[in-house]
Amino acid sequence: MYNTLIRGGTLIDGTGGAPYCADIALQDGKIAAIGHDLGAAAQVIDAKGFCVTPGFIDIHRHGDAAVFRPGFGVAELRQGLTTILNGACGVSLVPFGNRHKDELLHYLEPITGRLDPTIPTESLGAYLAALRQVALPLNVGMMLGAGTVRADLFGYAEEEPADLSPIHRALERGIADGAYGISLGLGYAPECFYTTDGLIRALQPLKDGDIPITVHMRHEGDGVCDSVAEMIAVAKALRCPMHISHLKAMGKRNWHTKIPRALELMAQAREDGVDITCDVYLYDAGSTQLLHLLPPDFLKGGVDAICARLRDKNQRDLLREAIAHRHDFDNIAQMVGWENIMLSALNLPEYQHLIGKTLAQAAELLQLDPVDCLCQLLADERCAVTMIDRMACEDDICTILNDPHSSVISDSTYPTSGKPHPRVYGSYVRIFERFVLEKKTLDLPTAVRKITALPAEAMRIQNKGLLRVGMDADINIFKPELLHERATYLDPTQESEGMDTVFVGGVPAILHGAWTDAGTGAVIKHQAG
Ligand SMILES: [Zn+2]
Repeated sequence: MYNTLIRGGTLIDGTGGAPYCADIALQDGKIAAIGHDLGAAAQVIDAKGFCVTPGFIDIHRHGDAAVFRPGFGVAELRQGLTTILNGACGVSLVPFGNRHKDELLHYLEPITGRLDPTIPTESLGAYLAALRQVALPLNVGMMLGAGTVRADLFGYAEEEPADLSPIHRALERGIADGAYGISLGLGYAPECFYTTDGLIRALQPLKDGDIPITVHMRHEGDGVCDSVAEMIAVAKALRCPMHISHLKAMGKRNWHTKIPRALELMAQAREDGVDITCDVYLYDAGSTQLLHLLPPDFLKGGVDAICARLRDKNQRDLLREAIAHRHDFDNIAQMVGWENIMLSALNLPEYQHLIGKTLAQAAELLQLDPVDCLCQLLADERCAVTMIDRMACEDDICTILNDPHSSVISDSTYPTSGKPHPRVYGSYVRIFERFVLEKKTLDLPTAVRKITALPAEAMRIQNKGLLRVGMDADINIFKPELLHERATYLDPTQESEGMDTVFVGGVPAILHGAWTDAGTGAVIKHQAG
């Protein structure tokens, strides 16, 4: 007798193939059989009229600290997410020792929120061991951030370290500890200081291996195609898998032209034998540190050095000049305009009234020029400010979705205060509600594939992403037309609705809409070989 039988559902199995009707039997956390008349089970779920899919997989979240917080997982499971990877964009919350610890934690706060100080950060192994003590509602794995590795060892200095072997050893250890990939954040300090050759030298331990590099590229606006070319060159030099994170073309002047070209470059590289894939998030607004508006030369030396620069009148004038005229960095303020940059998290009591306001509005309220307003907020908050910037265009998102090698991610950030981006709560419902049913950009099997088998393949996550005998029993049961994203930019912390039943490891985490508190998620690790 099986543990569970899911009877009479329409299976959308993750391959992208046509839906078909069959029963699924679950036993000991695995899919034990798929077919008809499978026999008796202790628990029978009637799925007639429902879609049955693999559990959804988000390979790009910043929940490194959030996974330890009470209540974590509800917002995720309400969208059918059963597996997530944290540690994206080069800024994982491990590994680091004490030398730059406070600075690192403070620098990462707008992205990951505050970390419980009892959680060990010195190695991925120690961090994952601590995570194993938590009753996780869903499966959680990690990538190792190459930016964190460099900042831990060499701080935020601009000069390339003369001896890269400590970086090599840290990457090797992270891989041995089970990292699914090495994430890069080439738009952030200190990785923005790498030359392409320096980057290839730093990543030597990945050469000829099967550990993917995931990359938040150096440029995502005017220079996005150059950045794609750069990453293809890195992949060719290292002969390892390359995955471009949150592909986008920021700034109106780049819409409609840059993305088709970027996808073409990747298709060409694949013909040349390069293993390259990409992902996209489903919103025309991003969310990151407000610090990201500054050019790389303003980010040298870490928080104290940055704050000193922001308070210096001459430096402010230089910044004004840079934002007005420079094109050699992702000049977000210039590309999208102050009216499209919303302040989403600030810590100081005197600035709480600015949360939800754009920089243009904040400048007016503080009676400052926008550049002075930016400098004052960043300096007073010691750089820990989060923004939501409206910079992309939905047509480009659709173009990326239509590429057969693109997965869908959320890029969820978890600042401890202020307003999160609605994508934390809504991404995996939005794909159906907006891009399958409303805009008809994707058909149902393709949409399911982009949030199951494709991301699992890209990150070498084994035994997940397909409805197949022997795979892990992470399974969703739902009617697509009942899924609804409730989160909005002004009221983001609202759970999605409509997911009927979600199995994690063969046990329902949500059963007919009710939260079960099963806690059957696992810490997952990359398995070598
Ligand atoms: Zn990123």
